Amino acid sequence: MKLLSARTPWHPVSLLMILSAWLATVGNLPLWLTVAQLPETQGWRAVSTLVSLVLILSGLLGAFLSLLVWPRWLKPLGLLFLVMATSSSYFMWTYGVVIDTTMLANVAQTDVREVRDLLSWSMLVALVLGVLLPGVWLWQQPVRAVGAKSVFVRQLALMLGSLALALVMVWLSFQDLASLMRNHKQLRYMANPINSVYAVVRLSVGEAAQATQPLQPVGEDARLLTTGIDEANAPLMVLVLGETVRAANFGLGGYARDTTPQLRQLQAQGDLVYFSDVTSCGTSTQASVPCMFSHLGKAAYERNGQRFETLLDVLQRAGLAVLWIDNQSGCKGVCERVPNVSTTALKVSPWCDSGECVDEVMLHELPKQLAALDPVRRAKGTVVVMHQMGSHGPAYYKRSPEAIKQFRPECTSHALQNCPPEQIVNAYDNSVLYADHFLSQTVKWLQSQNRPTALMYVSDHGESLGEKGLFLHGMPYSMAPKEQTHVPMVVWLSQPLQRQRGWTAACLKAQADKPLSHDNLFHSVLGLAQVGTALPQPALDIFAACSAAR
Ligand SMILES: [Zn+2]
Repeated sequence: MKLLSARTPWHPVSLLMILSAWLATVGNLPLWLTVAQLPETQGWRAVSTLVSLVLILSGLLGAFLSLLVWPRWLKPLGLLFLVMATSSSYFMWTYGVVIDTTMLANVAQTDVREVRDLLSWSMLVALVLGVLLPGVWLWQQPVRAVGAKSVFVRQLALMLGSLALALVMVWLSFQDLASLMRNHKQLRYMANPINSVYAVVRLSVGEAAQATQPLQPVGEDARLLTTGIDEANAPLMVLVLGETVRAANFGLGGYARDTTPQLRQLQAQGDLVYFSDVTSCGTSTQASVPCMFSHLGKAAYERNGQRFETLLDVLQRAGLAVLWIDNQSGCKGVCERVPNVSTTALKVSPWCDSGECVDEVMLHELPKQLAALDPVRRAKGTVVVMHQMGSHGPAYYKRSPEAIKQFRPECTSHALQNCPPEQIVNAYDNSVLYADHFLSQTVKWLQSQNRPTALMYVSDHGESLGEKGLFLHGMPYSMAPKEQTHVPMVVWLSQPLQRQRGWTAACLKAQADKPLSHDNLFHSVLGLAQVGTALPQPALDIFAACSAAR
């Protein structure tokens, strides 16, 4: 205490060492608690594993910080690392997520509504303990003015010493650690703040590289296969882009609760088909949406560094009217060159009364927005995408209006782990009930148009509701549970469309249980819209079977 009250100024490198020690221990509490709870680290084994891992991380962080942080930057960068470590710790601990490039891209693309949903009292407590208290302490510390040479020598020594410590510890415990990292891949994404810094650098380098690429055309030969259709019979096709709905809680998929009663009625009438085995491209909106509208398919899309036109560009090139209506955080670049509207600024009662608009506001806007589209294009046919708020978490209870809710009580906390699991599921299932209602209302509206119409619905990714301690979504795909990747897909074809095309819903029913994925979407929408191109892989078009059966 005497030392502190005397306020002996610190050598900057000593303060740097304290910062790395804090980050390696307190700044990584979720990582250490996870390691301590693993089945292979029990008793003394847990202690020895933890000690070696803490020393390795201290070494790596010491080396990393001494490379990056020089005296002038010590305090501001120190604060930045405290913010990074604490916020990612909070999300890892609260939702079981890990920090990688996709997760960071999600964060970067999040809008104000979504941020509001994530705020909670426990987050405030975490920020006070993890940022405010150590931050104020760090900021107030007097630092000795030392010569550049002294700083350089000490910092170099710190870096080499830290690296040596990390290497020795890895060498001593290599067998144990190698199997631990192999069996629990998520640990690699949990080391703060290296995970966030790595993700920021990778994301910005990747985005910068892609932004400089020229836009590559796709399907330059796109043309309408149907000719001689008059304006009154031009088809209207709606693609509803679902949000965060997992197949496991979708009534039509065999869920114990009937969360899709209205769609079930449409299914009984024979014009609606549910696809039971559909896999998403990514585990987040940011990863899935651009992939779904890309001609590349998941594997090629993930390897791709170029900028390509999307499905919507191809539809537009074929002469169709295209429209994107967004009730979420944007179209992630896929609707840039087609007419698009966002509902964010709307105040339409009763849909926007709670401050945020529920998805039906899109249906309310649809006639007006359709009327504003180019009439020459509309006379050939129209494709509309409605991007739902869907079941976006963690505030599931906000995703269904009072009148829809059937399952109570609902979890109304944003810190999901504070709620009993059944209340989380209740709130989530109510949001699926609302998706059922929204889709059925859309079908009703399409039926009232007395022309060939169709609806296709697919969710962008699933959701974890606490299974294995995981919440939300966005796990790296290779370790993502099925709850995050198995999504519902539905197609409804109006009678006028079936007559016009000579199709029957039976051609789709034959494929209802086949393994399908987001890779099928691009080619199937082209098939539904009757747009021909020389793009390969027509086998991915689920409607090809309908034309073949004609
Ligand atoms: Zn999403």
